[in-house]
Amino acid sequence: MPDVLPWREPVPLDGTMGEPRARGRFGEYGGRYAPESLVEACREVDEAFREAWADPGFRGALARLLAVHAGRPTPLTPARRLSEALGVQLYLKREDLTHTGSHKINNVLGQALLATRMGRRRLIAETGAGQHGVATATAAALLGLEATVFMGERDIERQALNVFRMRMLGAEVIPVTTGSRTLKDATSEAMRHWVGATGDSHYCIGSVVGPDPYPWMVRELQRVIGDEARAQFAAELRTGVPDHVVACVGGGSNAAGTFAGFADTPARLVGVEAEGGAGAARGRLGVLHGCRSLFLQDDDGQIVEAHSIAAGLDYPGVGPEHAHLRELGRARYVTVTDEEAIGAAVRLARTEGIVPALESAHALAWVISAAGSGELPAGSTVLMTLSGRGDKDVSTLKELL
Ligand SMILES: *Cc1c(COP(=O)(O)O)cnc(C)c1O
Repeated sequence: MPDVLPWREPVPLDGTMGEPRARGRFGEYGGRYAPESLVEACREVDEAFREAWADPGFRGALARLLAVHAGRPTPLTPARRLSEALGVQLYLKREDLTHTGSHKINNVLGQALLATRMGRRRLIAETGAGQHGVATATAAALLGLEATVFMGERDIERQALNVFRMRMLGAEVIPVTTGSRTLKDATSEAMRHWVGATGDSHYCIGSVVGPDPYPWMVRELQRVIGDEARAQFAAELRTGVPDHVVACVGGGSNAAGTFAGFADTPARLVGVEAEGGAGAARGRLGVLHGCRSLFLQDDDGQIVEAHSIAAGLDYPGVGPEHAHLRELGRARYVTVTDEEAIGAAVRLARTEGIVPALESAHALAWVISAAGSGELPAGSTVLMTLSGRGDKDVSTLKELL
């Protein structure tokens, strides 16, 4: 994808995790690096979303969809037995209990509703393991839209069940045969396809990545996680806010949505990445998929493929707002290995009766190790977003346990 837009001078954010009045810039990260026709399409999405987000009618319709179709609000569950063992008070925000089993539905229902409002008849999406693809196909079916999902050929082989699910839901799944035939290539291909279809199609990105307005629009659509959790935590403990707020980070949408609810509080924000996909912790400045952020690169600046047992964390970069939060020191980014995540998944299953997605297990693995090392002092309160359920991972785990 050519980067035809010159970088404009960065303008500081007006209030951390507020609306980026600087138009998609988070410090020196973000922007809208795209061919002319997509710049225009992004401008239209930006305008439509700002208008919709300020419209109580749109907000009400989305809230109703989230309630009656996705099962919101999700509970805040005290992890009693695990807390006792760790010596901290751990609370889980249960995105695993939403329809389709992860936080991704929050974003796609919002974007699908926006697409309808914009008069679009089709959603275009990229998917890696198929979770965002399934969520998009679900939202499209619900609202009577078509769905075209781009997926790397290698992922199609590895994720046959989700491919079937998408087709069952009526979506067209298009195999991507370029590059490493995985998520990075599927994203490039979806954007390329959108160039020729901006008139009737909306590109539904699955995380807080891509050109402006996607990073902040997706964060706004996911902030329902943080806003609900904050109110639930206050009601549960009557002490205001947790000491620590923790979430796993792939592109960073469940973490951004969670953090947004606590950005103006003293809570410490921790993003947990996969060791092999640590864009925030180990990435370097670059431009990919329409935005300037931190990406894993080799010495020649070529994007390095990410590797994680958790498909949702298998992205070589991180959303621009996370890069900015890291630079500001407002959030901290740490990494966890595959083995630590597997151990955490088993531990949660056996102490709380919850089989988490392997992505979410990364966040828990950090909580477990930080409680052990004293980084999380005894008695401290921790709110962790459990981004999804582990059903999709049982065949992976079955091979390993
Ligand atoms: C996709 C996914 C993630 C990673 O995406 P983010 O945008 O970083 O939230 C995490 N957990 C689950 C269950 C996922 O499906």
